[in-house]
Amino acid sequence: MSFLSVFKKKKMTASDNRAPSYLSGAGKGKSGLADTRAAIDELSKVVKDTPEAVEIYLALGNLYRSQGEIERAAQIRNSLIVRPGLDPAIKARALYELGRDFSRGGFMDRAINAFEKAREIAGDSPEILTELAELAAGGREFEKAAEFYSMLHQPVQEAHYLARLAEDYTSEGEDALARRTLKKALKISSSSVESWLLVLTRLKQEGSLDKFKKKFNSALAQVPKHLQFVLIEGLLADSLVFGDTPINNKDQDNDRNYLFYEVMVEEISKSDPDVIMHYYGARLLQLCGKQDEAGVWLEKTLMLNPNFWLARLELFNIAQDQQELTSSFKSQLDFFVNIARKVQRFTCSSCGLKRDRIFFNCPRCRSWHSISFRKELNQ
Ligand SMILES: [Zn+2]
Repeated sequence: MSFLSVFKKKKMTASDNRAPSYLSGAGKGKSGLADTRAAIDELSKVVKDTPEAVEIYLALGNLYRSQGEIERAAQIRNSLIVRPGLDPAIKARALYELGRDFSRGGFMDRAINAFEKAREIAGDSPEILTELAELAAGGREFEKAAEFYSMLHQPVQEAHYLARLAEDYTSEGEDALARRTLKKALKISSSSVESWLLVLTRLKQEGSLDKFKKKFNSALAQVPKHLQFVLIEGLLADSLVFGDTPINNKDQDNDRNYLFYEVMVEEISKSDPDVIMHYYGARLLQLCGKQDEAGVWLEKTLMLNPNFWLARLELFNIAQDQQELTSSFKSQLDFFVNIARKVQRFTCSSCGLKRDRIFFNCPRCRSWHSISFRKELNQ
């Protein structure tokens, strides 16, 4: 049971429960911030004289928090917390809200402190653990974040933070530790696309072509279809998997990479026809200099989805090289092709956020693995 439900379960008297009448009438003829402000101030006065109305009291703190007035919000929680004889469940709730106040205000240590105190009273409630997990992740304490998500039984998140921990180990030169951590991540969530990506990136960097082929095959079998493109996009990117630097593909022009690209194409061609994977197959062939084969793959892509604009763009590009164009015509074309290439290719299927680089946790709505490839321009 959620410890937050304590208030919903508690039987309240009619006078406790009824919202003050001025709240419903508040704002007649006015609107917006000033309105909220006035309501808060008035509510504040009333609640002060009715110390039993803890729920309203906490709601008042939330109102202050939503207005960015962290100090006043925290004051309200603290005045409740120190009250003698306070029901422990309510104290835990006040500490939890205090933690959220501090978190919102950017006081991370104080937030953790408040959540830990709430946890001492309410135990490992999912709400508290989630806040602590997010704070640990935000502070780059990935091992701790993974532990919290393990307690929350959220394997996707746990594997994600283990993968990030592994990436940190790699950058510190702790390769054995990194390998062990990735193995653990994949044991917890065998579909963890970020963990597979790190495994494959390492094998590619080591030049282990046979092992890479085997693991790429396993990855395609484990990673859900709609996320497979993330593997290839990540492998083409010359940057850290979780880094916030934009992807640039400057590392593509060497012979060793071609061998890996060919292996990837070979494995993709063995799996069920999928429009995005066909597109990436074509891109990989293009990078290997196999323009004709790439053209065939792009045509196949369009047979699977005629509206897939990026395949049209690449075909158009290939066709352009075969035409005799005046320099003016060519420069106009290049202009539009360059603009089209800058269109953000990825979108969050939960909130619609558009981005030009891969993400695992939506930066806007915080959904996990909600990234999708924009097959159509109006998507
Ligand atoms: Zn989103």
